[in-house]
Amino acid sequence: MSQIDSLPPLRDVIARHELSARKALGQNFLLDLNLTARIARIPGDLSGTDVIEVGPGPGGLTRGLLSEGARRVLAIEKDPRCLPALDEIRAAYPDRFQVIEGDALEINPLEHLTPPIAICANLPYNVGTELLIRWLTPKDWPPFWSSLTLMFQKEVAERLTAQPGSKAYGRLAILSQWRAEARIAMTLPPEAFSPPPKVHSAVVHLTALPEPRFPAQPHLLERVVAKAFNQRRKMLRAALKGLAPDIEDRLLAAGIKPTERAEQVPLEAFCALARQFET
Ligand code: SAM
Repeated sequence: MSQIDSLPPLRDVIARHELSARKALGQNFLLDLNLTARIARIPGDLSGTDVIEVGPGPGGLTRGLLSEGARRVLAIEKDPRCLPALDEIRAAYPDRFQVIEGDALEINPLEHLTPPIAICANLPYNVGTELLIRWLTPKDWPPFWSSLTLMFQKEVAERLTAQPGSKAYGRLAILSQWRAEARIAMTLPPEAFSPPPKVHSAVVHLTALPEPRFPAQPHLLERVVAKAFNQRRKMLRAALKGLAPDIEDRLLAAGIKPTERAEQVPLEAFCALARQFET
């Protein structure tokens, strides 16, 4: 296997620092540095971009990002056992790599960074969706990040990129496609990780759009979509009954048949329906 940097192989790093993977922290490590370099190339040229990495672990993806030329990488890691291994990376890239120890759900790294900012992470499964939803629902748009390159279980990745008519289509698809371009950039088998997870994984690449695809107020779109998919098998006139007594009229005004189910309704029509609730 070809070298991507002068640091030791990840297996040696993990053995030397006794980094046995902990399930509670969602630890499935990537050990192939050629693979992590490929993931680091997905966002494109990062030489003028600061990168936030959540959960660097022993540093496989971190090394990919740095060797591929990211301007700076700021990593947030909850497991203090990983810090000595990450210190070795810092010694190799003293001006371009910084680690904050702590919980990514509680830390705001923005004060340390200069835009443009990309986020790239092999996310811990237990906090991955929560972080993604936070990044997709800031108070103002465009958000602080220009792109998100994130590893998920393949099933979650398919929910982010799903189109109407598929079982995977739902709230996550609407959320990620309303104000971003979302695509699956790579799929990985369980054997790519140590230890191997039970399921396949996929890297999703999301690029923030300068403005939403269709006008709607975020809280109204969120309310309509949450309710519609909460009872996804029901016709919309029944599923959305609690939102307004004249829901059938509002559906028709938005160009949606009241007998349709949420799964069939495209993003543009959900936005039109959300606008029916503006006062
Ligand atoms: N990036 C490494 C790789 O690709 O091999 C490790 C990925 S592993 C799936 C997830 C990492 O996130 C672990 O290192 C874990 O300790 C860390 N982690 C788990 N929960 C976290 C949290 N709330 N905040 C920051 N890091 C967290």
